[in-house]
Amino acid sequence: RAKASDMHSKDCVKVAVRVRPFNKRERDAGSRCIISLVSTSISIQDPRDCHNRRSFCFDYAYWSHSGFTRDQTGLFVPEEPGGRYADQHSVFQDLGVGILENALQGYNATLLAYGQTGSGKSYSMVGYGPNKGLVPKLCDRLFEAIRENQENRQCQVVDLLSRGSRSAGGLRVREELQRGFYVEGLRKIPCENALQVEQLMEQGTRTRTTAATHMNANSSRSHMLIILQLKQIFSKESITKQSNINLVDLAGSERQRSSGSEADRLKEGTAINLSLTTLGNVISALADVAVGKKVVHIPYRDSVLTKLLQSALGGNSRTVMIATLSPADICYEESLSTLRYAERAK
Ligand code: ADP
Repeated sequence: RAKASDMHSKDCVKVAVRVRPFNKRERDAGSRCIISLVSTSISIQDPRDCHNRRSFCFDYAYWSHSGFTRDQTGLFVPEEPGGRYADQHSVFQDLGVGILENALQGYNATLLAYGQTGSGKSYSMVGYGPNKGLVPKLCDRLFEAIRENQENRQCQVVDLLSRGSRSAGGLRVREELQRGFYVEGLRKIPCENALQVEQLMEQGTRTRTTAATHMNANSSRSHMLIILQLKQIFSKESITKQSNINLVDLAGSERQRSSGSEADRLKEGTAINLSLTTLGNVISALADVAVGKKVVHIPYRDSVLTKLLQSALGGNSRTVMIATLSPADICYEESLSTLRYAERAK
């Protein structure tokens, strides 16, 4: 296994912010852009108070590649058009390639998308149509790498959405000393190529939506974990390396509106908020560890999500978070809260 010292601690946690284009609703509302980018820092302006501007610095900050029209009215144009326009390819180059290289070296890696519903998490993670996101691109590359080393590497994909998960109460999370936390009875499906992974993901996404409908919930109020389990067998040296790549499409970060929420919806909201808060606490503690601060306790056990990600966060693992947001004034509160959340990971 690779040693932690092989990797610079500053590489352990990387955070990117990505601003999506205006959507129709925002255009129709005559929204103004309240975000500006300068290099890798991002500022957000309070639409009710032009003197209230907050700035945050991350590892990467992107405008969307398309749809951010510089129209005649000037309404949608960023005030200071600094920063980078990045398409799916550039984002993958920045965030995906490193994760893949790490996994091939035997390190675990976790990629998370955080942000309000509709801000671009799925777009960044999975993508739409020809605009493939990080997951399919990563799979493409992974299998390219496997093909190049056909004779001594094998690969497996773990499917989190097995039939059992639809049974009452869902699957059980267990803990073993050696193994840490795991989901009992999870189906692992060996994959030969990237297309197969893509089909499983489609199946998984369908199951996610169906399961949400059955529970009278919205699929954006659930987390989706895709675990690629990579087992490399180097027969000549008789070495095996095993690493997990965890790809996490988190539930929408927006606060549950209290009006009209049924008791169940509230309970679900609370569970999701707890897991997002705990994840934030864990990542923030790990970021402190990375810069050499003394940290007494990393609260993995406080939520199911962080239990399952325990082996993937911290230690030799690499974590990349992409925080997604809308450029529009009407999303000010949610965008500011997303930036605050992402900042804690630094
Ligand atoms: P979320 O997963 O956060 O709920 P989505 O990824 O579904 O949000 O994004 C909402 C809409 O915005 C989609 O129609 C998507 O195509 C579009 N979108 C999001 N991010 C971008 C981007 N960076 N560039 C272009 N379109 C985007």
